[in-house]
Amino acid sequence: MRQIDHFIVGGAGGGATGGGRRSDVFDPNTGKVQASVTLGTQADLDRAVAAAQAAQPGWAATNPQRRARVMFRFKELVEANMDALAHTLSSEHGKVIADAKGDIQRGLEVIEFCCGIPHVLKGEYTQGAGPGIDVYSLRQPLGIGAGITPFNFPAMIPMWMFGVAIACGNAFILKPSERDPSVPVRLAELMIEAGLPEGVLQVVHGDKEMVDAILDHPAISAVSFVGSSDIAHYVYRRGVDAGKRVQAMGGAKNHGIVMPDADLDQVVADLSGAAFGSAGERCMALPVVVPVGEKTADALRAKLIPAIEALRVGVSTDAEAHYGPVVNAAHKQRVENWIQTGVDEGAELVVDGRGFTLQGHEDGFFVGPTLFDRVTPGMQAYREEIFGPVLQIVRAASFDEAVRLPSEHQYGNGVAIFTRNGHAAREFAARVNVGMVGINVPIPVPVAYHTFGGWKRSAFGDTNQHGMEGVRFWTKVKTVTQRWPDGSGDLPRGSEDGGPSRIQDAFVIPTMG
Ligand code: NAD
Repeated sequence: MRQIDHFIVGGAGGGATGGGRRSDVFDPNTGKVQASVTLGTQADLDRAVAAAQAAQPGWAATNPQRRARVMFRFKELVEANMDALAHTLSSEHGKVIADAKGDIQRGLEVIEFCCGIPHVLKGEYTQGAGPGIDVYSLRQPLGIGAGITPFNFPAMIPMWMFGVAIACGNAFILKPSERDPSVPVRLAELMIEAGLPEGVLQVVHGDKEMVDAILDHPAISAVSFVGSSDIAHYVYRRGVDAGKRVQAMGGAKNHGIVMPDADLDQVVADLSGAAFGSAGERCMALPVVVPVGEKTADALRAKLIPAIEALRVGVSTDAEAHYGPVVNAAHKQRVENWIQTGVDEGAELVVDGRGFTLQGHEDGFFVGPTLFDRVTPGMQAYREEIFGPVLQIVRAASFDEAVRLPSEHQYGNGVAIFTRNGHAAREFAARVNVGMVGINVPIPVPVAYHTFGGWKRSAFGDTNQHGMEGVRFWTKVKTVTQRWPDGSGDLPRGSEDGGPSRIQDAFVIPTMG
């Protein structure tokens, strides 16, 4: 059995020193255990923190251009290892290979942003803010940062975090999901191969015990979390209580509004990928579609049914498959339970994906594509995130009602509108109470040099991931107000040098006006 251990500098093979707890890592295609991952303890974290403390000052003192060069080399190494990484990712997560490559590629785009870190860290300068006074501000690293990541993007989300944190001069400790931990470890190895000093990026594995140890550790200054909302909220509260800077991204229930003038064939093609791609296990998936008007709803439903029935569910290495299995047996059960809840609450089950099996892979964690119609806002199956291949039609009578649905939902990650009408799109983007908006773009994940983050219960804290928001999160601003006297006698001096004493000047707050 393959053993997946921490990636900690100075440990015997990175192995655990703790209580020896481990967790199974499955191949969701077969349902079989393929590896076992260490569940770490406080003692493991302490070793990682000690190594990070030793490495970080030297890394912060490395000039930003040299730090950027590590990012350039890392990008090349990841590209050279793309096939192997995608294969490992797919075999632990269950997403198809093309999707696994997309996961890695979207993370690499953040690394590309980090290649420009010298530029974005330049700071600000005011000459002559007062008589003989200049003011400048600079961004300094926080010290040691940590990231706690979900199973659904085991390459992209770690790179969102460690790319920016490390480029800014921090050391970083990553606690990836215990369900698919191999790719994060491999990425850390490649960072070292790219020239990163040992100790600047480390990986510790674990569950709640390790997360709590991170949140409470006094030497860790900032924590970035991505996962489900209840845990995000818990991480936010506990981390802030311990005096840390915390950003904690949570769950989602993204809506796609379909206006009567939309190109329905395009909408159906977009929804096929956005609702069912990666088995719906994306925080930017589109599991709710809101056609405006009964006519639009009926026409959309008529086109959706054959498109959904034509979807090919297959093993993650099947190049023809639209999507693969969900991550584990518990999650398959959870998705199927939500389908039952929808039925019990009175929604119309149009296509039922429960009980789906794939010949030759009967124990794999597959869920067939599922479509509900006449879902209403009062239903629990509407209010909660299902995170599976389940699409819900919620019919709206008007544009105003369609704007209200995502705006009033507890989650506010992404939303899309499909229309040919620029005015409707513009109104929608201005009014909707959601963090990321797509206009005829079903999955509006912003590019790396913009920033990613939702609203309401989709994100706790106030700083987004990557782009300049990420740089702000991983640095603290220092503002320096300076005056350089010319050395003549009437300027401030200490009395100890025997010159005229104007020490009282040191206690006067200079006015700039
Ligand atoms: P999860 O909340 O179960 O796990 C996330 C992380 O928290 C993991 O590292 C896990 O080990 C840790 N964890 C689990 N239980 C914990 C506990 N009780 N206490 C402390 N830590 C704990 O999430 P998941 O199932 O891995 O990922 C799916 C979720 O992540 C979905 O809700 C999805 O919407 C969300 N997500 C959000 C975004 C976003 O940017 N908003 C992006 C991707 C995924």
